[in-house]
Amino acid sequence: MTGEGTNCYLIGSGQRRVLLDTGSPNEESVVKSLTQVLEAEKCEIDKIIISHWHFDHIGGVEAIQREICGDIPLFKHKRVPYPKVYKGAGEKMPSGVKIPKFEEQFWNFLTDGDVLETSCGRKIQVLFTPGHADDHICLWMKDERVLFSGDNILGNSTTVIDNYNSYMNSLEKIRALGDCLILPGHGGVIENGLERVEFYINHRRMRENQIIEQLENGEKRIRDIVKVLYADVPEVLHPAASINVAMTLDLLVEKEAVSIVDADSEIFCKL
Ligand SMILES: [Zn+2]
Repeated sequence: MTGEGTNCYLIGSGQRRVLLDTGSPNEESVVKSLTQVLEAEKCEIDKIIISHWHFDHIGGVEAIQREICGDIPLFKHKRVPYPKVYKGAGEKMPSGVKIPKFEEQFWNFLTDGDVLETSCGRKIQVLFTPGHADDHICLWMKDERVLFSGDNILGNSTTVIDNYNSYMNSLEKIRALGDCLILPGHGGVIENGLERVEFYINHRRMRENQIIEQLENGEKRIRDIVKVLYADVPEVLHPAASINVAMTLDLLVEKEAVSIVDADSEIFCKL
């Protein structure tokens, strides 16, 4: 998700602000614009929260601490391994990028439901929302009805997921908040948050239904399903699409809508 850069947010209006996400390692533009804003607003950063471990969110911690605010407290959620790992799933990290080692930095671990307060007295609630990454959190400001969605919901596209079941649960959790303004990790502000979340949910449910339709004609292999469902997508992207179909099939199996006939090297499924 590097195409359009990462949105970093300074939260609060008091003298001390909370910084959500830090951009990629040594991204000078982030350090520069942060410095300008802090100077213009005559304020400082008192804590940094990271939405998830991907390099384009966590990567700027070191430079921001070094250049701007020193060793202030760092917050994130712990990584929580999924029950099942899908090889090759999720966001691709660019090769050659040095991903910061977590153990080199001291993290205060957040948990679902934690409430942090800004220096101006605004409350920020932590929502554990895995599915794009296994430590992903959103930040919810209930009084303002503002959701910082990280990479779970993006400004102008759907997102990459590494666990379908967790992701759908996270979307339902966000939907339950009701209407809100969404400030995403990439892309522009989303005014009608609820509508966008429902669009995401419906998009995935549509895929589930399309898979079920494919199976109505008998047993199918994942690659047969991908060929039909992703006919308009270049073939080079079909392996990635296969992972999405495999994750979706697992959820359908769990719901007992689909059964696996042969789980050898190739999986055949049927209704
Ligand atoms: Zn990400």
